[in-house]
Amino acid sequence: MPLLGVIGGSGLYDMQDLDISDTLKVDTPYGPPSGSYRIGRFAGMEAAFLPRHGASHRLQPHKINYRANLWGFRELGVRRVVSVCATGGINAGVPPGSIVLPDQIIDLTSGRMSTFYDGDEVVHVDFTEPFCPDLRDRVRTASEAAGVPVIPSGVYICVNGPRLETAAEIRTFGAWGADLVGMTLMPEAALARELEMCFTCIAVVTNFAAGIAARKLTVQEVLDTMKTTEGKLRSLLAKLLSADLRSPRCACRQSLKEARL
Ligand SMILES: [Zn+2]
Repeated sequence: MPLLGVIGGSGLYDMQDLDISDTLKVDTPYGPPSGSYRIGRFAGMEAAFLPRHGASHRLQPHKINYRANLWGFRELGVRRVVSVCATGGINAGVPPGSIVLPDQIIDLTSGRMSTFYDGDEVVHVDFTEPFCPDLRDRVRTASEAAGVPVIPSGVYICVNGPRLETAAEIRTFGAWGADLVGMTLMPEAALARELEMCFTCIAVVTNFAAGIAARKLTVQEVLDTMKTTEGKLRSLLAKLLSADLRSPRCACRQSLKEARL
């Protein structure tokens, strides 16, 4: 049973370090996930990898079946998920190439299936701290062990896309306290909480957001920065996978306790 699930964002479509033993298609009550889950071993740890946008990046952020992706991990027995996201930096403190471990989220998405509870059952999960503190801490420890510098906190604002933001939007987001802008962390993080999974994010800053860089933004810039950061990201994930991730020191498994009406 894989101990860790890894969701790969733009530019991270496989995990070369993983010794793949299985590629599994998983059926879910919510439809198909973004692709097949690649199950493999690394340093004695079994992990499952899923590229969020599909293997050939065919899914736009608002078209991703976030519920199916998370449910699929659960079906495989995964209870802890690390989500890798490409983001834009909203201030000079997070230049392209930075790796950030966000600790907060602002959600501006709309029209996405954002809960497993859209039937008769009423559930309000606590989301004060949107990430598992234990898994975040383990990623930070892994980054130190791997010699990969990370920015240990930051506010991720999630927009709907697929268009990029205006300069005025980015100025506003900055005034709200956001450090990073992206299109995919929500509802992913909230759905993981509803499934009582440990979930945390490794955000790669691939470009300065609109108006911060005094030029037009291009997708090529995102992919180029992801490519140059990929080595650091792989070292970090390898260290994380070689650590013992059993016995979580968190309350994620009790997220639904006291959440039902
Ligand atoms: Zn946890």
